Amino acid sequence: MTVDKTRTRRADLPAQARGRRATDITADVLRAVLDHGPVARSTAAKVAGYSAASMTGVANLLIDKGLLREAPEAAGPPGVGRPHVPLTIDTKSTAVVGVHLAVPRFTLALLDLRGRVLLEHKHEYDDLDPDVALTQVARSVRGLLADVEDRRILGIGVATGGWVDAARGVVVEHPLLGWADVPVRDRLVAEIGLPVAIDGHSRALVRAEQLFGAHVDRARSSIVQLFVGNVVDVAFATAGSVQQGPRSAAGAVAHLKIDDSTEPCACGKVGCFEAAVSERTLVRRALDNGAIDRPVFRDLLAAASAGDPRAVALLEERARLVGRAAAILLDLFDPDLLTVVEAGERLLPHCRAVLRAEVAAGSTAGAGSGQVVAGTSFPDHVLATAGGAVILDRIYASPTAVPGRFSRAS
Ligand SMILES: [Zn+2]
Repeated sequence: MTVDKTRTRRADLPAQARGRRATDITADVLRAVLDHGPVARSTAAKVAGYSAASMTGVANLLIDKGLLREAPEAAGPPGVGRPHVPLTIDTKSTAVVGVHLAVPRFTLALLDLRGRVLLEHKHEYDDLDPDVALTQVARSVRGLLADVEDRRILGIGVATGGWVDAARGVVVEHPLLGWADVPVRDRLVAEIGLPVAIDGHSRALVRAEQLFGAHVDRARSSIVQLFVGNVVDVAFATAGSVQQGPRSAAGAVAHLKIDDSTEPCACGKVGCFEAAVSERTLVRRALDNGAIDRPVFRDLLAAASAGDPRAVALLEERARLVGRAAAILLDLFDPDLLTVVEAGERLLPHCRAVLRAEVAAGSTAGAGSGQVVAGTSFPDHVLATAGGAVILDRIYASPTAVPGRFSRAS
């Protein structure tokens, strides 16, 4: 993001621009330290595009908020002045909670400010009724927090599949959970008393790739994220900005028709992308062909990893369909980076090869065009990272909104 450094009197700026301007330097410095730390204050200022003098107070503010700390282990010899003590992201005194709501489980995690997962638990819902389920989620979060006394918790990020209105903090529609217009954010704020932000999990993973991913420069330029689980959806961002759409519904590809599959879909049609590749569909087919003997998707992955040809065939077919969808997305958006979250791609080299071959064959741009197609940067903790990234993105965008160590949480 470029910073407008033209001299405009504060009174000439609309209120929102004044607010943004006030947070820019802290956000830019925090991001510079994330990317380059440990780094001297003067270098952080330079990288962020400011003079060393404009750093007065900024570093101390970020330290007070528990976002930065001084890195004594990297400090120079005694006598070197304080401005030369390097700054680094504070990964020790603060943390965030990541929540991912899926079916049939929800995931709770604790993440540090570099997005690293410190703790992760999965829970089965007692009941899918939103009131009962969110009460259970809140109780589980409070249980997690009770075990974490040595860190100040800066907020809770919630990610989920389906249709999420991030601005209102509402799950608009999640067919598998059976939820419609559920005010998740306000419910959790009321029950837990910490800042809460919610977004769709593909958008959350876009933000995670932009903050902490293996290809951050590409991700900050333009990225498409394709998520394939029980829910299938897409998110995309250009110039660092994630597309939401006026209905907050951008990225709905569940009912894209991508081949001649005859799988019936809940929408009443046949051959929709999500119906053809969802975990539920694969589990049902694997039970039918004898690859697994209980309806558990990870059993199918285990069977395929062990070389069961029935399991391998089902996952290869899915990789082919996902590759075809990815090729369409590449041609449609021409992103610098396309990341795919799909268990076969992640765990089975052969499925990864099938998916890549299908992308190369199906996209007009083809390989070697400057685009990168990659698996997620967070293969071991995709869901936990998605949840945490929702609130971490807010923190990195507006560090001044984070309560300081000595101020009351708002
Ligand atoms: Zn459909």
